[in-house]
Amino acid sequence: MSFMSEPQFVTRFAPSPTGALHLGNARTALFNHLLARRSGGRFLLRIEDTDAERSTDAYLAALVDDLRWLGIDWQEGPDVGGPAAPYRQSERTTLYADFQERLLVTGAAYPCYCTASELELSRKAMRAAGRPPRYAGTCRELTAAQRRDREARGLAPTLRFRVQPGADVAFEDFVHGPQRFTTDDIGDFIVRRADGSAAFFFCNAVDDALMGVTHVLRGEDHLTNTPRQILVLTALGLAVPAYGHVSLIIGDDGAPLSKRHGATSLAELRDRGYLAVAVRNHLFRLGHASAAQGLLDDSAMAAAFDIRHLGRSPSRFDMVQLDVWQKEAVHALPDEAFGAWAGDALPPPLAPADRAAFVAAVRPNAVFPADVRAWAEVVFGAPPQLGEAAEAVVRDAGSEFFGVAAAAAAANDNDLAAIAAAVRSATGRKGPALFKPLRLALTGLDHGPELAPLLRAMPRAKAHERLLRYAR
Ligand code: GLU
Ligand code: ZN
Repeated sequence: MSFMSEPQFVTRFAPSPTGALHLGNARTALFNHLLARRSGGRFLLRIEDTDAERSTDAYLAALVDDLRWLGIDWQEGPDVGGPAAPYRQSERTTLYADFQERLLVTGAAYPCYCTASELELSRKAMRAAGRPPRYAGTCRELTAAQRRDREARGLAPTLRFRVQPGADVAFEDFVHGPQRFTTDDIGDFIVRRADGSAAFFFCNAVDDALMGVTHVLRGEDHLTNTPRQILVLTALGLAVPAYGHVSLIIGDDGAPLSKRHGATSLAELRDRGYLAVAVRNHLFRLGHASAAQGLLDDSAMAAAFDIRHLGRSPSRFDMVQLDVWQKEAVHALPDEAFGAWAGDALPPPLAPADRAAFVAAVRPNAVFPADVRAWAEVVFGAPPQLGEAAEAVVRDAGSEFFGVAAAAAAANDNDLAAIAAAVRSATGRKGPALFKPLRLALTGLDHGPELAPLLRAMPRAKAHERLLRYAR
């Protein structure tokens, strides 16, 4: 069966630009992008910036940057336009006004004049009485005269959705299965704030309908919001999308992801030198059980993405697992991309062949640019200082060992096999007794990349000097 027989999904990512893109939201964006791509559908980016105080253009720019870095592209959005433009909610106020007016006219919503302090007082009283704090319904049945009176006092009303008691709201969550909520548990909620801006429950739902979104895949923290959104859409006669709520990401200790787990934002990982493909491959498997093995590129990932495999239990973000992907991703980098990734960790001016030799030598041991920097220091820096134990190993090998090694290195262009053969026949040493002193004298370390390519990358004079200093 080809994917063409699947319906084409229209999905979206709807962030609020009020902070750095955290890993949970990055995963949400990735999943929605994959879901649309897999079905040949559309993925759109909608900016939920009706909270003018907390939303900034700088956060929005960073968000777009982060998403693009992660390799996510959208067919509609604030920067690329599209048939449902504008894609910033702050620019959709007049559009919302029509729908709010409809709710008002049909009585599905009403103006609420309660002040913030009145509402707070009422919530406190409910909590004290052991009830969940909910809007008390104070302005639900105001007469026209009472409204005029409040308007005359200069009170700016919010617009509240009237939730009819005694009804059920049922829907099929494509992750959690059948859901049923009773409206008795849902208080009348705000659809327009006193300053005229649209409130989340309202504009989020209305925009999904107006933008033709078929599938809303988002974090579990929104599961209990869904019945309110279905009520709004139903009252307006708008299409209700399919909703699916994916489990939240937690740290390795089971607590919500926070700083102490290593990183919470995509930008932090990027700054530390993580490759996008590594991050994507970890995110892809968080809350999504996939049989697809190995490092997947975007199209393989899209083909392997399956909403039936989305999980209900919290998924652990694991820095150790992320580093496994990172290592794999670094190994898979084409040389050119490796150079770009390593950046100024690569030693400056190197002839192309020398640079290629160095990259070939250190790539297997590089997980971060800092590793490349450290090996560059070993290969191109000052002769290593040996610790006491290393010094003893080298001294034990003796001056003849290093005299022969230095001469063989110079005569054979740093070729390890030739050096080893010469030392072996002169001293009878072999195996670790042969290679360990060589490695220590050359690098100062008893671990690291394979010695032969490392030596090939090392300037001839440096190798000679390092070996020669133990020949006396
Ligand atoms: N702006 C909301 C958020 O960032 C969107 C939620 C949704 O995806 O519906 O949480
Ligand atoms: Zn009120």
